[in-house]
Amino acid sequence: MENSKEMRTWLDDLGLDHPLVIAGPCSAETEEQVLKIAHELKDTDVNYYRAGIWKPRTRPGNFEGVGALGLKWLQKVKEETGLKTATEVANKAHVELALEHDIDLLWIGARSAVSPFIMQEIADALEGTDKVVLVKNPINPDLSLWLGGIERLYTAGIRKLGAIHRGFSTYEKTKYRNIPEWQLAIEFQNKFPDLPLISDPSHITGNREMIFDVSQTALDLNFDGLMIETHFDPDNAWSDAAQQVTPSKLVQIMRDLKIRKEDDSEAAYTKELSNLRAQIDVIDSQLIESLGKRMKISDAIGKLKKEKNVAVLQSNRWNQILGAMILEGESKGLSEEFVLRMFKAIHQESINHQEKILNQ
Ligand code: PEP
Ligand code: MN
Repeated sequence: MENSKEMRTWLDDLGLDHPLVIAGPCSAETEEQVLKIAHELKDTDVNYYRAGIWKPRTRPGNFEGVGALGLKWLQKVKEETGLKTATEVANKAHVELALEHDIDLLWIGARSAVSPFIMQEIADALEGTDKVVLVKNPINPDLSLWLGGIERLYTAGIRKLGAIHRGFSTYEKTKYRNIPEWQLAIEFQNKFPDLPLISDPSHITGNREMIFDVSQTALDLNFDGLMIETHFDPDNAWSDAAQQVTPSKLVQIMRDLKIRKEDDSEAAYTKELSNLRAQIDVIDSQLIESLGKRMKISDAIGKLKKEKNVAVLQSNRWNQILGAMILEGESKGLSEEFVLRMFKAIHQESINHQEKILNQ
């Protein structure tokens, strides 16, 4: 599969002057809930109305979705509000039911995107469809698996395609529900620059307070749209209560986001610049994160040395590190002088940490 402009015609044909917006509740709960939220989103920037009908829950015993009945409610949404509709499909039966009910956009969830068997089953069931199909990133940070899902759909003749970045699960607790690993999304874009890429800040953050910032970063990185879970009573939602926003909050988020348009060369320059800067910001945060981790390990070494009463400075070890890093730096286009200065600073910080522990 090659990068192809054909994959984004469905988006370009909408002729939007803002990013694509997919919004609506995590789950369809009742007919009244589905219709009430849809009516509140009717005259906003929202292009597609989302609602999960079948909910993939990590542990059994939680609300698992209303099932096919909810598809009728989505049809009503389209009739009453004119909003196009979107839902998640996870197997052949879901695809058939969604197509029968004329759902306009189908997405494949993060737990399905990890399975080539499921992806193939869904691609076969969708063969030749003219519906829009979006693939969420798999829950594990594996770019090939994500691309593989898109390729299976493309091979099945599906041309209205896109990807959704919803972050990745980690064993360690972080401030995110699913860490963004922006670098992966950037690599994804480099591979398929014309494939529409949508951000899902709701599932990345798990927390409505952080949705604006993640959305802004995504737009700075040239994402094409946002999928934001929206509910009139977020706290009492039957799933993902902490991350849903009200329709009026969504309107405010859309109003406050800095949206960079590509209409003249000056705007194109500014857009390119802010894209590059956003990439730098992502990498700088990763540098700090890595240095923090390195110092934690230094602390552990400090404790060991204290127990064994060993000196902090081990010159042999240090010269080994420096030699290896100068060579590795050279292969990445970094000067010897820079690598030396940087590692001296890192080493000094590490010694300071260990001295502190030894003198405790
Ligand atoms: C969802 O969009 O409600 C959902 C279940 O998302 P994910 O597949 O990203 O977990
Ligand atoms: Mn959800």
